[in-house]
Amino acid sequence: MAYTGPALNLNAFTREWEPVATGAGLRVKTFGANEGLSLPYALREPAPSRPWLYLSAGIHGDEPAGPLALLAFLKEDSLPAGVGVVAFPLLNPEGLRANTREHPQYGDLNRDYLAFASPQIRAHRDCLQELDLSYHMAVCLHEDWESAGYYVYEHVKGGKPGLGRAILDAVEPICGIDRSPVIEDRPADNGLITSTPGTIKPEDLGGGWAEALYLGEGLCPDVYTVEAPSARDLDTRVNAHLAALRVVAGAM
Ligand SMILES: [Zn+2]
Repeated sequence: MAYTGPALNLNAFTREWEPVATGAGLRVKTFGANEGLSLPYALREPAPSRPWLYLSAGIHGDEPAGPLALLAFLKEDSLPAGVGVVAFPLLNPEGLRANTREHPQYGDLNRDYLAFASPQIRAHRDCLQELDLSYHMAVCLHEDWESAGYYVYEHVKGGKPGLGRAILDAVEPICGIDRSPVIEDRPADNGLITSTPGTIKPEDLGGGWAEALYLGEGLCPDVYTVEAPSARDLDTRVNAHLAALRVVAGAM
């Protein structure tokens, strides 16, 4: 089994990205030149003493709702004034073109944040190191074709209550939540899977390391991996992710 829904229209997305990001006050840039790549990202500086928000999508190529939700979020301009933003909309364009979770050559890029075996994730790491920022919150947009509803991985420092439940409450009327007691081998509480930086070992992820964990180890104390159910139609998944992004933006 695999995702059989529509792929992301990469050409259409790429055409829209620059005007939409620019319209939201972000500067459009690329990263990866050292690796022979040209991958898009965009950023906007915060006002003095205001925090940075980190957003990413498209690391799994069969999850088109993430990039589209990021685009829609920037288009509707609901970013709070003064908040700084770094946005990576397409971390795996080759996978998105092929409509496959994995990169055709380098496998699951979201398990490469320890070995850095792929040029894409090495380039992402180098870009983050060059930016040298700390993020108040981070959201990684994903989808799960096996899930009956929306769910959230909350990776939050020091056991402080995170936004996961608020995200799920906002999303539930749109696409329902996954109430399975175990999701992806992790105990889940009505759609919420919680962990703390420093507690997940590479063995727990088959020896790999996910973007959210990399962010959690020093760059950001408050990371949300949000998963929309791929079985729902694409507009519903985009709207669900948009609702999640609005909750996070509202808490910045
Ligand atoms: Zn994913």
